[in-house]
Amino acid sequence: MHGANQIQTNKSMNKKRNIAIALPSTGEDEWQAIREPLLSGWITQGPKVAEFEKQFAKIHQVPHALAVTSCTTGLHLALAALDIGPGDEVIVPAFTWVATANVVLYCGATPVFVDVDRETFNINPAEIASKLSDKTKAIIPVHLFGLCADIDAIRSVIPAHVKVIEDAACAAGAKYKGEYAGGLGDVASFSFHPRKSITTGEGGMVTCRDDDLAERMNQMRNHGATISEEQRHNGPKPYILPDFNLLGFNYRMTDLQGAVGLVQLSKLKQFIDEKAHWAEYYRQQLGGVDWLQLPSEPDNGRHGWQSFVCYVDPAKAPMSRNRIMECLQEHGISTRPGTHSVPTLNLYKERFGLQADDFPAAKDCQEFSMAIPLHNRMTEEDYSYVVDALKNL
Ligand SMILES: *Cc1c(COP(=O)(O)O)cnc(C)c1O
Repeated sequence: MHGANQIQTNKSMNKKRNIAIALPSTGEDEWQAIREPLLSGWITQGPKVAEFEKQFAKIHQVPHALAVTSCTTGLHLALAALDIGPGDEVIVPAFTWVATANVVLYCGATPVFVDVDRETFNINPAEIASKLSDKTKAIIPVHLFGLCADIDAIRSVIPAHVKVIEDAACAAGAKYKGEYAGGLGDVASFSFHPRKSITTGEGGMVTCRDDDLAERMNQMRNHGATISEEQRHNGPKPYILPDFNLLGFNYRMTDLQGAVGLVQLSKLKQFIDEKAHWAEYYRQQLGGVDWLQLPSEPDNGRHGWQSFVCYVDPAKAPMSRNRIMECLQEHGISTRPGTHSVPTLNLYKERFGLQADDFPAAKDCQEFSMAIPLHNRMTEEDYSYVVDALKNL
């Protein structure tokens, strides 16, 4: 792609680097961890998944954690277990990954978009009230890029019966006013995709406090079966077949992933601490770049630092956001737009007759946001190289 040895002429005289936007931090420990399930032959949901769930729940201070195949299937499972279906409306932020809205369509319900805040990139609580109706059954606040949505402000504008489903894809280990993501709403779903804070390849985790909801989700992730495979195989009654009184799915995580997840989870705090350190470095080094708005940080919480997403001020920037991204790419630095304005995607635009200008902040965030590299495989030289490139654009 790029010549790795090309000498730069900027003042740092750094050699040209290739810096990925994100890279999972996996290696020997994870490699060793999958030996046990492979050797024992218990490969799908079993003891490793159970231990991963137990540890995840403990760290996030919630009573229930259930592993699933992705954050997306976890969100679908949560909505289905809450009986959300045709005729129901679910509020979602306009600026998010498309899955947040897709899961509402999976249930035959209607996503109702609410615009976001340009500084936090999260749902704007002031815009919610006008989107509520008699049909509103739930809201899916997204903790985008690892910054928790303002749950208190959201709760203060929604009726008590409206369920709060956290899209915590980016928020493993993140905190809001001293409480962990995953315990802020009625139910939450985390992602272990390689772009997220910890990974199992693909994978997700739903968390909740309610025992009955946890039991429903537990059955529904396993085809709706009333007893699990483990109970069946380990129990004393070989003739027992499960009953099925709920329509379920196969959203089970494998024990190979559970084993990897356990190792990754043991490193979560270290991963976030390290990224928080470099986020602070970026803040100190880039604070003087007047056209670059740096990510918001919580007052009394903890950013999960899934990614470091800036906002390029079009009125002050020396060139367009896209041109800036191209220049950085020429220097071997990967960047990405933060995410999408979902109402502008064809599926939503056409199905619901939406216009990009209906959600001006989401549109701006799509157009002017820029994630710069922040991950656990970057070196000190990588970070200073990114800073120099941005300062010397
Ligand atoms: C990544 C992401 C998802 C999807 O997670 P998967 O585990 O890939 O299904 C959903 N919502 C948000 C906000 C995300 O960033």
